[in-house]
Amino acid sequence: MKLTSKLPHVGTTIFTVMSKMALDYQAINLSQGFPNFPIDSVLSELLAKNSRENVHQYAPMAGLPALLEGISELVEKQYQRKVNPQTNVLVTAGATQAIFTTIQALVHPGDEVIILDPSYDCYEAPILLAGGRPVRIPLNEHFLPDWDFIEANVNSKTRLIITNNPHNPSGVIWKQNDIQSLEKTVENHPNLLVLSDEVYEYISFENKHLSAHSSEILRNKSIIVSSFGKTFHITGWKIGYLIAPEELMLEIKKVHQFLVFCVNSVAQATLAEYLKVIDVSTLGKFYQEKRDFFREGMKNSRFELLPCEGTYFQVASYSSISSENDINFTKRLITEFGVATIPLSVFNENGDDRKLIRFCFAKETETLTNAIDRLCKI
Ligand code: PMP
Ligand code: GLN
Repeated sequence: MKLTSKLPHVGTTIFTVMSKMALDYQAINLSQGFPNFPIDSVLSELLAKNSRENVHQYAPMAGLPALLEGISELVEKQYQRKVNPQTNVLVTAGATQAIFTTIQALVHPGDEVIILDPSYDCYEAPILLAGGRPVRIPLNEHFLPDWDFIEANVNSKTRLIITNNPHNPSGVIWKQNDIQSLEKTVENHPNLLVLSDEVYEYISFENKHLSAHSSEILRNKSIIVSSFGKTFHITGWKIGYLIAPEELMLEIKKVHQFLVFCVNSVAQATLAEYLKVIDVSTLGKFYQEKRDFFREGMKNSRFELLPCEGTYFQVASYSSISSENDINFTKRLITEFGVATIPLSVFNENGDDRKLIRFCFAKETETLTNAIDRLCKI
């Protein structure tokens, strides 16, 4: 049998590769982005309670009504935006499924989709599978969008621009003028839609995260994606949601119902209750302490740390340590120094290598201390 791959250039993701290597070499894993501390005991108790209740069969396709309500209330509280729980909210199996589903629903063969590099790895494959053409545009040296360059690349075939703010991998967050520039771009091109990946929306530090939810112009043209995995330290639950105008949502739901139909009912029932008792606004401070601890410790290393304004990732340059490429360098960090990280080149078109690596600091203090110890010996 001759099998023609639909994704000939796609291999195993860097997160799988690095986390496996970390395990194989017993390295401290600061690569894949997940917390290594226990979840909130209130959440685990709610999960145990819900597991004994009658919530084990299919949930309604778009989500449990109580969770849809809870999400609407959260969005109104955080962003002063009223969304209709029945028509504007969809519970998904993580942000990954929200993104995949949106792209399958909205991108037609031949459509162009703008991606800003370095870009998170789950954007390109669904565009290719939909027959679309990814147009990869580099962010500027501060990891912010170059709006003139973007504007110059939008044409009548451009269907979507995928934005990610706060940004993985750089940890940079958008300024007010970025929101305004995106508003202008959207106004200049009536057929252009925005897929706004905001999974780190509650993890910002000195400056507040600016959401597409808060812009009257953007919210009517955007599919905005959130992840409970990131917000509640439960990446393995694979649950998140998207918010979209009704007209777009009708198309997105058509795909969702045949991709998953509905999402884990016990997780939904649990999160509906948890949303009533949790205050998401404390998350920034929680991670800011971890960021500060990690940065302070790394002052004694030869790595040069870039600014980190949000997310739980710290990017560093190793150019004063080595001139080897970032993939080889990160592999050697694992095998020789026992710390796993992520090379940034994998997020760029053609593997553009700028001697930058990413550390995940969503870890217990002891893990960070041990990692800092090892990294300062390099
Ligand atoms: N977008 C970005 C920028 C991410 O870092 C991640 C990883 N959490 C995702 C999407 C996927 O999120 P989820 O685990 O909820 O699918
Ligand atoms: N979002 C996580 C990261 O950036 C990875 C999740 C995954 O492995 N797909 O590290």
